[in-house]
Amino acid sequence: MDLASRFTLNNGVGIPALGLGVFQAEPGEETHDAVLHALETGYRHIDTARVYRNEHAVGEALRESCVPRGEVFVTTKLWNRDHGFEQALAACDASLNRLGLAFVDLYLVHWPVEELRGESWRALEQLYREGKCRAIGVSNYTVRHLEELLTSCEVVPTVNQVEFSPFTFQLELLDFCRVHGIQLEAYSPLTKGLKLDDPYLKKIAAAYDRTPAQMLLRWCLEHQVVTIPKSITPARIEENARVFDFKIAAEDMHRLNSLDENLRTSWDPTDTP
Ligand code: NDP
Repeated sequence: MDLASRFTLNNGVGIPALGLGVFQAEPGEETHDAVLHALETGYRHIDTARVYRNEHAVGEALRESCVPRGEVFVTTKLWNRDHGFEQALAACDASLNRLGLAFVDLYLVHWPVEELRGESWRALEQLYREGKCRAIGVSNYTVRHLEELLTSCEVVPTVNQVEFSPFTFQLELLDFCRVHGIQLEAYSPLTKGLKLDDPYLKKIAAAYDRTPAQMLLRWCLEHQVVTIPKSITPARIEENARVFDFKIAAEDMHRLNSLDENLRTSWDPTDTP
């Protein structure tokens, strides 16, 4: 595997296994420079969202780079205030305008907004049929939310993007997604930096002569989970990409799995009706 390696989604579209996340990257130069540096480093997958306010800068960097559009996988997301059928259609058009793209590779429902999420999904199905999104999916859906969606959808979601790291090892959700052909995608795979000093993680990383960040990313890939670490720091963008030249042994995977403490660094959908 390398930076261009893709997992295949349930509609046949390939998603690069590692991407750059840009949550909390400032709109403008900060996001632009990070995305450009990532593309120059070989990243072929960028994860943004309407609510991050940096879609415009992502689009500018994409155009400025020499990488052909067809080689870059771009994800954006439907924000909570934009739910409902007509609203979701309009929100996707607005995101495409800000990105300056004719289509995104993946459009996600950012959060399972109560009562409106079913309507919104119908809109995403239409956007998919119209070719404005090469794939559609969800984010922050628990097993319960996915079960509800699977009973009513015409297009099965390709992806569920959730918090996932050894400290948030959502095994039941991972298994459920696997059984239903839904690709799990890890957000906050570096725990937003909170656990990089964990003594046990540091010890295992030292044994592999890797950084704790690289161990966390490789752990996701070993679970066949797409991962989208965020960094605006050039050296870290490069460090996070060097995760394809080693493997984690099964016994160390088990040890890392056991670090689970149901950590939630942003928000937790467990009790969302
Ligand atoms: P991450 O777990 O990716 O951690 C990002 C933090 O870690 C930043 O402070 C970054 O600093 C730092 N960092 C990055 N690389 C290293 C490194 N090698 N060593 C030490 N520190 C490092 O957090 P995010 O919450 O940003 O998650 C990643 C992406 O997932 C988001 O950007 C977004 O695209 C997506 N996401 C989606 C959510 C959803 O609800 N769907 C929720 C949260 C995130 P710096 O940038 O200063 O280098």
